[in-house]
Amino acid sequence: MCGIVGVIEKKHFSVKNKVLKALKRMEYRGYDSVGFVTKEGIIKKQIGSIAGLLQNMEKDYEATLAIAHTRWATHGGVTQLNAHPHSNNDAQLFVCHNGIIENYQEIKVALQKKGVIFLSQTDSEIIPHFLEEKLRAGKSMKEAIQLLMEEVKGTYAILIIEKEKDV
Ligand code: GLU
Repeated sequence: MCGIVGVIEKKHFSVKNKVLKALKRMEYRGYDSVGFVTKEGIIKKQIGSIAGLLQNMEKDYEATLAIAHTRWATHGGVTQLNAHPHSNNDAQLFVCHNGIIENYQEIKVALQKKGVIFLSQTDSEIIPHFLEEKLRAGKSMKEAIQLLMEEVKGTYAILIIEKEKDV
């Protein structure tokens, strides 16, 4: 069981004081890695604790929209590449996922056949690539998410950011 947090506000907030603080409240669940991304596409992720991430952050970030995650690995080892958030190949869509996508392998193979490059071994990484494919086919984000929900089997809480968009 990991932690997953999303914050959206009209005014800028501190990623350290708001997002990572909220994530800390779920630390008791246990985790092996941690990460966050802001609407602007500032992404930080690493193995280890929230405190460790805070230490490695050379500065705080201001954001109006950010998502964050503590991972308890189920698919793929404990590595920085497997930590969340995950993104599509041109880093326009960012995803944090809590849970397991049971049928990820068949979705992954189908996407790879279309030229998608996977950077992680996680089940979660199919999500940004799947959504990108649907957006490219002319679907709205809402429709793309509906199609995702029809396709995936398993358990999930998912947070998605489309770069520079508010919703
Ligand atoms: N299945 C995902 C992974 O292994 C998410 C695990 C979790 O819920 O933290 O990365």
